Amino acid sequence: MSERFDVIIVGGGIFGCSVAWSLARRGVGRVLVLERAEVGSQSTSRAASVLTCVAGHPAKSAIFQETWDVMPVIEEELGEPLGVHEVGSLHVARSEVNKSSLDAQVALAAEVGEVVEEWSPERARERVRWLDVGEGDRSLFLPRAGYVDSYLFATAYARAARARGVELRTGVEVHELCFEEGRVTGVMSSAGELRADWVVNCAGPWAGVLSAQVGCHLPMAPVRSQYWITEEREEFDPEQPVIFLPDVPAYTRGEVGGLLFGLRGGASPARDPRALPADLGALEFSEDPEGWETLSAAGEGFSSFCPLLETVGLAHYVSGPSTYTPDGDFILGACEGVDGYLVATGCCGSGIAASGGVGRALSELILDGESGLDLARFSPDRFGDIDAFSQEWLDRCAATRAAKSVC
Ligand SMILES: Cc1cc2nc3c(=O)[nH]c(=O)nc-3n(C[C@H](O)[C@H](O)[C@H](O)COP(=O)(O)OP(=O)(O)OC[C@H]3O[C@@H](n4cnc5c(N)ncnc54)[C@H](O)[C@@H]3O)c2cc1C
Repeated sequence: MSERFDVIIVGGGIFGCSVAWSLARRGVGRVLVLERAEVGSQSTSRAASVLTCVAGHPAKSAIFQETWDVMPVIEEELGEPLGVHEVGSLHVARSEVNKSSLDAQVALAAEVGEVVEEWSPERARERVRWLDVGEGDRSLFLPRAGYVDSYLFATAYARAARARGVELRTGVEVHELCFEEGRVTGVMSSAGELRADWVVNCAGPWAGVLSAQVGCHLPMAPVRSQYWITEEREEFDPEQPVIFLPDVPAYTRGEVGGLLFGLRGGASPARDPRALPADLGALEFSEDPEGWETLSAAGEGFSSFCPLLETVGLAHYVSGPSTYTPDGDFILGACEGVDGYLVATGCCGSGIAASGGVGRALSELILDGESGLDLARFSPDRFGDIDAFSQEWLDRCAATRAAKSVC
């Protein structure tokens, strides 16, 4: 007899752990998380872990806001701090186009009830010593933003879930989704067949491979994200705001005594998920090793905001795949014609920030049949019939990341 669960979650990254905790919090009986590596060890542990709460549109912002709401709850359940740096975010625009586009950020913040402040160039320069804000630049500050250690955050969800009775099995690989008469009934794994009323696919960059087995091509592709961390300098303050520079485009935050900065645009190679190694530590982006192409294309623009970059050394380079969709929206919910099966992926480079809302949304879909969060824009089926492994599709998803200018 195979073991039976109420819910099996495939993947113990931050999405899987957050869904598990949210289900357990609502009192779901037997929840099992299957992770072939270690909890939080793949995309999650590579994140720059910037947390925003106003981005895109109200439905997306609500997902981010939920994360800010659940973080104190987890801290209370575990009786320990998550180490969130609530330093705010500063958005500095130079071109007329980008200055005007900050109006949309102001309007969205007002719509979703978040505070936003217009800062003078002097105030921005005083707050961030290394930042060269010109008299003509426009700066917006949003207090509810910051960063966290993503690995600690994911393992905190996992520990809080476990304390509520969730079972986590690591070193177990899911080979196949069991599919009978239009319904996913469980998984075939390296630990044998396991059955469940619901299977939730939280397999991150690999989620599309499993999903294609039941005829549901997920509208995303794993696309490289990357950032650098400079050597330590006394000008870099770990409590500086997270800074977004849409003209470059770049984002930065403090990291220990150095500056972490991510550059967008330029080369954003996408991968066929079937060709990804099971351990991202073995993944190489041979098209542009260590992101030199991006660095040389965007480095000059970034130096105009951060002249120190001309003289400071780079200490670390981090890259990994984030799952990008062509419209920049997540993939959350059911696939048409497949019962007992839900998907949570398509993070578009912001899965740490979205984790609280993703957990809530998926647990509500399972328990209530619908979510109090507006998920209409996140349907896995929204692009219709696609071949998510074709080169054309991979290029489309890569282009979304290359064009991403804000959070
Ligand atoms: C360089 C970089 C910078 C980033 N910066 C940020 C940021 O600043 N802010 C932010 O919010 N997000 C950021 N992200 C994105 C963030 O890392 C992701 O959104 C998030 O980690 C997605 O979590 P996940 O659980 O979907 O995926 P993962 O963490 O990859 O978890 C999926 C898990 O599923 C497991 N798995 C897969 N297939 C199977 C199988 N068949 N059987 C069993 N287990 C399986 C994997 O081993 C893995 O552990 C960044 C990402 C990168 C790469």
